[in-house]
Amino acid sequence: MTDSVNSVHTPLIKSLDDILPREPLLMMGAGPVPIPERVARANSVVINHLGDVMAQVIDQVKAMARYVFQTESKWVIGVAGPASAAMEMAIVNLLSPGDSFLCINNGFFSSRMGEMAERIGANVKTLDVPTHTAADPDLVERAIEEFRPKAISLVQGETSNTVFNYSLEEIAKRAKKYGCLVIVDAVCTLSTMPLKMDQWQVDVVITGGQKGLSCIPGVSLVAFSDAAWHVIQNREETLSHWCFDVKLAENFWHKHGYHYTAPVSGIMALHEALKLVCDETLEHRFARHERCSKALQAGIEGMGLDLFIEPSSRLNSVVGIKIPNGFSATDICNHISSVYKVEIAGSFGQPIVRIGQMGEQCREHNLFRTLHALGSTMRDLGIKVDQPLGMAQLEAALQSR
Ligand SMILES: *Cc1c(COP(=O)(O)O)cnc(C)c1O
Repeated sequence: MTDSVNSVHTPLIKSLDDILPREPLLMMGAGPVPIPERVARANSVVINHLGDVMAQVIDQVKAMARYVFQTESKWVIGVAGPASAAMEMAIVNLLSPGDSFLCINNGFFSSRMGEMAERIGANVKTLDVPTHTAADPDLVERAIEEFRPKAISLVQGETSNTVFNYSLEEIAKRAKKYGCLVIVDAVCTLSTMPLKMDQWQVDVVITGGQKGLSCIPGVSLVAFSDAAWHVIQNREETLSHWCFDVKLAENFWHKHGYHYTAPVSGIMALHEALKLVCDETLEHRFARHERCSKALQAGIEGMGLDLFIEPSSRLNSVVGIKIPNGFSATDICNHISSVYKVEIAGSFGQPIVRIGQMGEQCREHNLFRTLHALGSTMRDLGIKVDQPLGMAQLEAALQSR
């Protein structure tokens, strides 16, 4: 005899309404970020994944993505999976066992492609960049000269410690002198700051949905240059990864055929997120991100808190704040979430809390609410801050431009 699900297997299953906070939390952490209403609505649509409407949606997604990636390359591919899946797609298709690969490692996220390359048997060298600094083109060039890798990877913004690799363009240029493929993780930065794939000679750009694009997590995009595509097409052995095989993914993304059942609703959401970027224009979107992030930084410093990274290599997309002595990220994040209904992030190994400035997070009303909540949290915990001065600095910075 089976009884109802509640009484037999899993007592007290509640509805989502009972689980979710009564007042939604403002998502100001390091992703996922809030999504616009239009994106949320698109994400509720299910259509035939192989029909004519889907084909039209896919063509538009690719066209808009080319603008956002700043590339004329045909080779935009979507991935059902997190940004890490798009990273894995790039790595496993471009590298064969034994190929040499240089991973420029600024921290938690940028070490990941090195790890993926190691797992498929590539010959991996890691160039470790000190925690508080951006990658130095001279050191990268020296490593390339010695090691002669087939490809290098680097992150534009290392979300974990909030470092900005501002020399990305220069590093790509140097790598090209040695014929390396350049793979860039732009997960948190794409559409928040300039990245010119073609002009900067980047071969692969990877992004996820849930950060700069202000879309849902779980559907990602990767763009390959013609040179990268050539490597993929000329590869002889069969890839051991079936889902991530670009040659199979091409069926869906370029030939309107079947690979696997595409994440239809997620692609609809991505379409709307990209459309919003295109409507806003990259130029205005970059300006909005810079203005909001700088104002938030001014407000945080105005309160008397310290930012983790010096201005020259500081990432604007995610702001890292030093935690005052005697407190932990958990203390701060739990308090601001439970009392002020604002979600911010701790970190992977750094003594900081992080506030995101990606997509919808960069709205003035979100800045005021978040900074106020941060100041109140600090006061509640007994940390001395000048909250009124911080709020005033935020306002002054927003008005000064
Ligand atoms: C978030 C992030 C990732 C990982 O994205 P997932 O969607 O969690 O796989 C990779 N790189 C950077 C720079 C990120 O910010």
